[in-house]
Formats: sequence, structure tokens, C-alpha cells
Amino acid sequence: MAEKNDLMEKVVSLCKRRGFVFPGSEIYGGLANTWDYGPYGAELKKNVKNAWWKHFVDDRDDMVGLDAAILMNPKTWEASGHVNSFSDPLIDCKKCKTRHRGDKLLEEKIGVEKTAGIELKEIHNALEKEQVPCPDCGKIDWAEAKTFNLMFKTHQGVVEESTTEVYLRPETAQGIFVNFKNILDSCRVKVPFGIAQIGKAFRNEITPGNFIFRTREFEQMEIEYFCKPDTKKEVFEEWKDLSKQFFTEVLGIKTDNLRFREHDEKELSHYSSMTFDVEYRFPFGKRDAVETWGELQGLADRGDFDLSQHEKFSGKDLKYQDPHTNERYLPHVIEPSFGCDRTLLTVLIDAFDEEKLEDDSVRTVMRFKPSIAPIQVAVFPLLKNKEELVGKAREIYKDIKKSFRSEWDDSGNVGKRYRRQDEIGTPYCITVDFDTLEDESVTVRDRDSMEQERVKIGELKEYLMAKM
Ligand code: ATP
Repeated sequence: MAEKNDLMEKVVSLCKRRGFVFPGSEIYGGLANTWDYGPYGAELKKNVKNAWWKHFVDDRDDMVGLDAAILMNPKTWEASGHVNSFSDPLIDCKKCKTRHRGDKLLEEKIGVEKTAGIELKEIHNALEKEQVPCPDCGKIDWAEAKTFNLMFKTHQGVVEESTTEVYLRPETAQGIFVNFKNILDSCRVKVPFGIAQIGKAFRNEITPGNFIFRTREFEQMEIEYFCKPDTKKEVFEEWKDLSKQFFTEVLGIKTDNLRFREHDEKELSHYSSMTFDVEYRFPFGKRDAVETWGELQGLADRGDFDLSQHEKFSGKDLKYQDPHTNERYLPHVIEPSFGCDRTLLTVLIDAFDEEKLEDDSVRTVMRFKPSIAPIQVAVFPLLKNKEELVGKAREIYKDIKKSFRSEWDDSGNVGKRYRRQDEIGTPYCITVDFDTLEDESVTVRDRDSMEQERVKIGELKEYLMAKM
């Protein structure tokens, strides 16, 4: 297993080498902290999103989906509180003039519990007291902290006036709240029920970094679950269990590296009375960090804050009427909010393994759960210049591809092909050899154990299906 500090470097390098994640606009020298998902990354991301949608929407009867616009009426963001309070503490280094996020620097030094809820005016003194140096020049000479609003502004239409100013949404959640009434009126939903959405969000982060962990453009997978106010404690607990299930059972993340952390009172957002973060122990290896737990998902009790704010700002009645009792009320909301890119980073780190083999060489293998692996089955002819082998292998490949995400590979020797498939995390490789032509069987090689088994072509699909 790679040492903590270089694990991150190894994952980033494998991602580039094997087509998972590339630096954004690289041929032009890049654009800071932007990343593009390559063929295997795009596939993995799609599988994570599909698994999420299946777990939280398709497999349930109390959930519906939504795909709202990124650009919304700016009043939305006044109502939600983002215009006034969606900001982070910005702190300047007086020596080298670089800008940093004060609370995060402190968090790396003394931990998130001791930093949580720190007031803006206390940050400067705390950084000096804890002797936190500037990450760029190493000096300790901080200016006072200022608030910095994280919303990206742009203009809609051809005239650049303040009336045309719009924001790129900083979260997908508000698209759900503004459509609450539409969904009540058009679908057969009854409280308790939830609305799910996957989509891009944008935040002008002061210090993006740690690969795809913190970027300015990212994807969220969010749910707003509407319930009767007196049931929300149980609903919250239910969503806690469902979230844990998603990470451990659906994605196969190791539980040792996951934790639920409750926000203390000072840390709570303006809209929340209870929040838990699902955190993963990332191998960021920051300078003298005391811990590297990073948030994957927030789970918040938002009460009726959003619906009542939207009622106030839009002048529309957003109340729900109970069909049995005729009681009219604003439901309360439990919000599980997942970061898609952070989940993907977690999947990549958690799957990465280096295994020492008997001949002392090291095999790099991505141990993805087969159900989410970008490629599930690779098919090889033993030799690429033997027509009978290639023809037979092509036949098998064509058929296998109908049921599994599959890849054809006929270049180099089989050993090298196995190594490449190990690095992209393909759980099964099928080799068609000369015996196949005689006995209608192929060799199936298991990524994790490296064991090889002969399987009849007629039984291949069933054999693989049972393993996925
Ligand atoms: P952080 O404290 O790390 O800035 P947050 O508490 O502001 O995160 P939320 O507003 O709760 O995050 O957003 C929900 C989820 O969206 C987070 O759990 C995270 O997975 C994801 N997310 C938030 N900001 C970013 C970002 N800049 N880059 C990638 N993912 C993000």
C-alpha cells in the first residue's frame, strides 16, 4: 500500500496516464484548478451518478427527479440568503500578497472541531496565535480577514447592466424549492416525499485545490425530502442510514475511512438546526495537518426555512394540503447533499492499491466495485495475427458487450494487457486461445485474486452476471 503522502500523487498520476482525469485546457497551459474527465473518468462518474439515482430515486416510491436550469431568477438567491451570507473568510498574506481561506488554514493546524464557527474578527489573531504560516511564502504576516461572496456573477442578454446580472447557481437545492409547487400540482406526490437532482454548481472558491476535491465548477447530487415537522427526527435518522449504505454497500467504500460528524451549534448554517457531515479520511498530506478528514456529503435539517423564504419573496402560497386531514402547512425539509466529484475522488483513492507480487514486482490495481467499474469485462485474442483467434474473440466480444461495459484489446502481450486492465480497474478479462477453438471455453482472469478459470462460452454471461 502506498504511503499516505504519496498516495494522492500516485492517484493523480494514474488518472492522467490512464485517461480518468486530465488538467483542464492543458494545451493552452491549463486553467487553474479545472479538470476534465477523460473516457474512463467520464464512465466512472456516470456509473456513480446512476448508482446514486437508482439507490435514492428508482428503488423508492417516495422520490421523484428534477433537472432545473443553472441560471435562475436572482431573487432566488436573495430569498435563500446566498446574496447576503454565502461567503468565506478571505485573508491576505501581507508579505507575498497571496490570498487564502482563513478558516481552512486554521482547520489544518488545529482541527475542524476547534475551528468550527470561528468569527471573522477572531481569525487573524487565531492564525497568529497558532503560528500558522502562509502556505506560499512560509511567513506569518496576516492582514485582517474579510468576507468574500462565493457566487459567480454573469450577465444574461446583450446589455451589461445591473438588471441583467444573474448568478451561476452555487447549489442545486434552490432549483428544487422553486419547483416544489409545480411538482405538487403535476405529480401524484404526498408528504413525505423527496425530490432529487444531479447537476453542476459553481462557487468562486478562495482556495480550490486537492485535485477534484475543491473546484470552482463541480457537480452535486442533492435531495430535498419534505416531511411533517413532527416526524423529522426519524426521517433524519433514516437518511443517515441510507447515506451510509450508499457509500459502503453501493459504492463499496471501506468503512474505516468514513465517519459521521455532527456540527456543533456555532458551525451550523443560517438555515439549519441540525447537520451531520459524512467525511472521508483523505490522503492529502497537508504540511503539518492534524487531520485530513474532508466532507463528502452534508445532511441537514433545513426546517421550513427555504419554502417560507420563497413564499415571502415570491408572494406565492407554497403550502401543502394534506389530502386526508385538509391541514395546510409548509413541510420541513431534510437535505442529503452529496458532492459528485468528491465522491468520485473517494472512489478512486479507496480503490487504489499496490500489490507486491512473488517476483518482487509491484502491481497497481484499482479495486472498483464491479458494478461501477468503468470497464467490466475486457476481451483479448491471445495473438492478434491469428485470424481464427481474432474472429472467435470478436464474436464473443460482440455478445458480451450487449450485457456489460466491455473493451477489446489485442495489443502487446497478454501480461501487459492484464496490467493495463488492472490499472483501469477492470474486474474480469477474457482470453481466447487455441484451446478455445477446440473446447468452446475461454480463460477468465479475476482482477483481485489474479486467478484464472476456464469457462464455457455458453455459460459466460451467466458466470459474469453472478459476479457483478
Ligand atoms: P466545504 O466546507 O468543503 O466548503 P460545504 O459545507 O460548503 O463544503 P455544502 O454547501 O454542504 O458544502 O455542499 C454540499 C456538497 O457539495 C459538499 O458535501 C461537497 O461534497 C460538495 N462541494 C461543495 N463545495 C465544493 C467544491 N468547491 N468542489 C467540489 N465539491 C464541493
